[in-house]
Amino acid sequence: MLLTITNTRPPATDLSFLLHKHPDRVQSFPLSFGQAHVFYPEASEARCTAALLLDVDAVGLVRGLAARGRAGEAQYVNDRPYVASSFMSVAIADVYGTALGGRSQARQETAETALPLTARLAVVHARGGPGLLAQLFEPLGYTLVAERHMLDEHFPEWGESPYYTLQLSGEVRLQDLLSHLYVLLPVLDDDKHYWVGDEEVEKLLRHGEGWLASHPARELITARYLRHRHTLMRDALARLVEGDEDPDAAEEAHAAEEQAIERPLSLNRQRIATAIDVLKEVGASTVLDLGCGEGNLLGTLVQDRSFARILGVDVSYRALERAKARLHLDRQPPDDVRVQLLQGALTYRDRRLAGFDAAAVLEVIEHLEPTRLDAFAEALFGGARPGTVVLTTPNVEYNVRFESLPAGTLRHRDHRFEWTRAELGEWSSRVAERFGYEVRLEPIGPQDPDVGSPTQMAVFTRS
Ligand code: SAH
Repeated sequence: MLLTITNTRPPATDLSFLLHKHPDRVQSFPLSFGQAHVFYPEASEARCTAALLLDVDAVGLVRGLAARGRAGEAQYVNDRPYVASSFMSVAIADVYGTALGGRSQARQETAETALPLTARLAVVHARGGPGLLAQLFEPLGYTLVAERHMLDEHFPEWGESPYYTLQLSGEVRLQDLLSHLYVLLPVLDDDKHYWVGDEEVEKLLRHGEGWLASHPARELITARYLRHRHTLMRDALARLVEGDEDPDAAEEAHAAEEQAIERPLSLNRQRIATAIDVLKEVGASTVLDLGCGEGNLLGTLVQDRSFARILGVDVSYRALERAKARLHLDRQPPDDVRVQLLQGALTYRDRRLAGFDAAAVLEVIEHLEPTRLDAFAEALFGGARPGTVVLTTPNVEYNVRFESLPAGTLRHRDHRFEWTRAELGEWSSRVAERFGYEVRLEPIGPQDPDVGSPTQMAVFTRS
């Protein structure tokens, strides 16, 4: 069985630094069930492909089972050696373990960047047909090509086999691609070769982090990955939900609290109106709404036809689902690209965000860990580089004026910080200088002579 991964972002050979495998050599690694070989069929500046070939020792496997008194489970003639299954997952973890963990000694930044990657797998056994392939991989943003193989080309009347050569393409971090394959290959095959114990729940949660909880087929994935062991499934699903949905639900509850505090000032409406004023002032036609949430700003943007392209990005799948419903995107013709939503984290570079006239980042930065602010600035001002950035955040000095807010507390329990005017000023000037922008600060909401306005805005213009 063979897995190739192709990178087409120059210098494409960075792939070899991410995989920690030299492009000029064939390297072999012994595994408990055979040998893995890594080599590069192509390695140029424009295109680089790494191949992971598994040579499963079928006879050895059977002997191993027999030695453990489980010979009955073994069949000499089966598809195990040829089909990408949990064997491939084990090989990915063993041979590409550092990349699967998202680390790279020489190219850490590239490891954290979405790259144009294509994975090709020969062959996969899709129990459930081509629909299953789409159901598993499309929600993760991949474009899929599945080529079905005949049972035997010499006997077409035998019909089609359940085997496919699968090609997945997308703009993803290598770590994410490997994690998706790690979890989903055994799911496709629905026949894990090894015993499923508690540690499998840990592996599933670890490698499913950031995507499995919001995957529409998460029940199926969990059931098949854990080989239908019910107690494990329940445990895993409960923890998945704990790990992901609760913060979302909590986020909603907290957002409601925040609105209640700010409502008398209808700050939300003022922020949107001010942001739109700025966007129109600079004549922006293509606009990013970063951390768009449920689409407060998007809803107003779409009504104005001078915005020809609008892309909303948020890390929360649930918020995006709401935004999609609210904007009636399901009724938008599929080839209409005027309004699009994208699930993604703002702390990673993403090429799909490049080339926009302007970006709005309303009430988002205070939700980021302070230690991730540099990564956010780097991805936005260094990577996406829109002409204008409109950013708003609470002015913490104003909190003493909110009667319903106990002294010393932030407006929203998910806020990691709230800044004074001086703090926003300092951060903004530093970022502007570093990335070649001019910045000005403006108040939003009623101005108090002592503590300023409740919301503060920074407008960055590329120099
Ligand atoms: N801009 C919207 C929503 C603000 S709430 C408005 O003004 O109404 C903050 C939003 O930022 C939430 O939807 C949250 O999911 C999103 N968010 C938080 N951290 C993020 C990250 N690292 N990447 C992308 N979105 C993030």
